Amino acid sequence: MLRIGILGLQGSVIEHELMLERLDGVEPVQVKVKADFDKIDGLILPGGESTTIGRLISDYDLKGKITQRANAGMPIWGTCAGMILLAKHIINDDKVHLGLMDIYVRRNAYGSQLDSFKTDMLIPKVAGHPIPLVFIRAPYVEKAEDGAEVLAELDGKIIAVRQGNMLATSFHPELTDDLSFHRYFADIVKKAAVR
Ligand code: GLN
Repeated sequence: MLRIGILGLQGSVIEHELMLERLDGVEPVQVKVKADFDKIDGLILPGGESTTIGRLISDYDLKGKITQRANAGMPIWGTCAGMILLAKHIINDDKVHLGLMDIYVRRNAYGSQLDSFKTDMLIPKVAGHPIPLVFIRAPYVEKAEDGAEVLAELDGKIIAVRQGNMLATSFHPELTDDLSFHRYFADIVKKAAVR
């Protein structure tokens, strides 16, 4: 059984848990305190508010533990705010949270009119059918450096990117019914089998 942790500090935690429960061979587990991170094979950073989650990561003193496991190869997937937490560069913010991916992220990048929207897209590396994508005050990636592979772009902006065992998406697959991204991530976790 693969144990996939969901950082349970704030945001769409339960939604990710419910999606993972639908996958065979995967046990979702909410993680909050340092010791929890030793017992998982992969980690999801949910959507929410990156400033809040970032502050809680620091209050709970989790950064060292998460980066240590990431550097040892544990897969991590950040959705929306989670993408911001993973980035080494946030274009419109001074902060760097976990700083694990070589991406330049713009927060709240879709402006007020398009704050939230939904679309469908075929992302061949992830699934053979169009996937519903939900954006909520979403970031996008303006630049991905060498080693970061672009999985999907929307209107010339990067919205899904992978770097080794790390994955970042601007949108929220956990708020749809489509399991493609959860399955894709579980597959990365299975191959990494780092525990
Ligand atoms: N706007 C949020 C942020 O900057 C992200 C929104 C989300 O996760 N849905 O952290």
